[in-house]
Amino acid sequence: MLRSKHRTGLTVGGLLILGIAIPPFPWQLIPATAQQPALSSQQLAAAEAQRNEPPYVPKTKAELRRQLTPMQFKVTQNAGTEPAFRNQYWNNKRAGTYHCIVCDQPAFESTAKFESGTGWPSFFQPIDPKAVGYQNDFHLAFPRIEVHCSRCNAHFGHVFDDGPAPTGKRFCMNSASLNFYEGGAAKQETDTTAVVSQP
Ligand SMILES: [Zn+2]
Repeated sequence: MLRSKHRTGLTVGGLLILGIAIPPFPWQLIPATAQQPALSSQQLAAAEAQRNEPPYVPKTKAELRRQLTPMQFKVTQNAGTEPAFRNQYWNNKRAGTYHCIVCDQPAFESTAKFESGTGWPSFFQPIDPKAVGYQNDFHLAFPRIEVHCSRCNAHFGHVFDDGPAPTGKRFCMNSASLNFYEGGAAKQETDTTAVVSQP
């Protein structure tokens, strides 16, 4: 056994060394993935300042229950999933922009929407890499990557690696998480031949 006479000094020194050895920045511990991480609160505040928007103030659950339909609340707040083919935008072929239903941040454009055959609105990329955040989802037998709004954390859906060019990604979203603004996109959807009018 080592003598304990010098323990105080050694301990202090050891702690100091340990303090330096431990990664001082928590974000260094986040594993790097191919996915775009959510923005930090500082980055979000900077982005909002650039757009001259006031910082986002999260709404209470009571406010959200008043603002959203039960399905919108279930999907965005409890990571629910709406029925395939029985949702608002799965077959929407109009040109425009899809915003977060909770905080109205732009999330996807019709120019990146494609026919996935799943019955949910599908995109090969978000409107901006910083518009969405990602999180590992182990709720099913196979792991998935959950996608949410980078501003308010509303659940959007999941992203898979079986999408079309140019990204190879399939952002499988819930219509209930989105609000469509017609005419917000500059270009028409690229992979469709006919524009189907909506009821
Ligand atoms: Zn949002």
